[in-house]
Amino acid sequence: MAISRRGALGLAGAAAAAAPASGITIRPMLADPAGFAPAPGIAHLKYNENPMGPPPSALQAMADLARSSWYYADDAEPRLAAMIAARFGVTPSQVVLGHGSSEVITSAMLAWGKRGTIIIPELQFDEPLIFPKAQGLNFRRVAMAPDLGIDLAALARAAAAPDVVMVYLCNPNNPTGMVLPAAELAAFARSLPPRVTLLIDEAYMELADDPAGTTMLPLVRSGANIIISRTFSKLFGMAGLRIGYAVATPDNAVVLKQHRLTISLNAPGLAAAIAAWTDTDFQQRSRTQIIAARQLLRDAVMRAGTVALPSQTNFLFVKVADANRFAAAMAQRGILVRSAWEPAWPTWSRVSTGRLADVERYAKALPELVNI
Ligand code: PLP
Repeated sequence: MAISRRGALGLAGAAAAAAPASGITIRPMLADPAGFAPAPGIAHLKYNENPMGPPPSALQAMADLARSSWYYADDAEPRLAAMIAARFGVTPSQVVLGHGSSEVITSAMLAWGKRGTIIIPELQFDEPLIFPKAQGLNFRRVAMAPDLGIDLAALARAAAAPDVVMVYLCNPNNPTGMVLPAAELAAFARSLPPRVTLLIDEAYMELADDPAGTTMLPLVRSGANIIISRTFSKLFGMAGLRIGYAVATPDNAVVLKQHRLTISLNAPGLAAAIAAWTDTDFQQRSRTQIIAARQLLRDAVMRAGTVALPSQTNFLFVKVADANRFAAAMAQRGILVRSAWEPAWPTWSRVSTGRLADVERYAKALPELVNI
């Protein structure tokens, strides 16, 4: 079956269903499929999703694959791993796939955390800590720098404690969107004791101003004790398909694989990821659209007389009077943004770059709500 660009962009509405030779009807994508997307009229700007994707190439690949999904997709995994490895100049054995990058991050925490403490900045995406914490693993949070950036000097001091086995940091960070200077991060990585593995979550790296100059992949290539996680959820617009990966030294990759949470990835997700990986036109358009939406948000923030941190991602961390009141008032207008990052940051509100129309609704409501 062929999926049109209109359908791929969610504009097809009740367009005619395609009927392939098998006799099975596969309908074009609905604009708001119940249970899989917010209700009509809701601006979903709270989870850093990407309204661009999946690209038509990935939709087509998933449709073509659907009938074969009674097989475990064992062969597709090495195929995607090899494609990722080729782009990054590592061997396929250095790439570990997961159900979203959340799985590889969790696996790393389980593997290392049973040997000692994991250090993490205070203001950072920390959902992957939930399961390891429930397993009794130990985490130590480290205060942020005054500008809300990650304080590498403080992390280095914390990592000197003999029980520390891992540092987990996000670059770019979530929710600040800020990027660490590459030279400083590389020096920090080199300064860590050999017993400490550095886990760098690069979920938003493709959106950074200079991804090639910002990523720590070159250090992994040179054999450093670093694990990098990446995802198809952000630039590739496939959050619901749950495909992510880690790039690590061969030895660390073996340990990660031993700590995978389950067997075999989901077949449609793999098919979509394989198709989208080589769709560089789509990746470029996705990046351009996200950056344009981010600029609209920045302009709105300025017009509203407030500030946002210098984000290199698909979200902004915006200064408001009270982030929880702000989120509730936005929600009353059908615009969903993140509530406050408690307890220390009650006056910062994160908003994602969603569909342009949704961003415009946010921009319109912002001046009235920023000071409530
Ligand atoms: N890492 C960061 C920094 C994130 O913000 C997110 C999701 O928002 C993830 C990882 C999880 O992504 P995935 O969908 O790959 O599990």
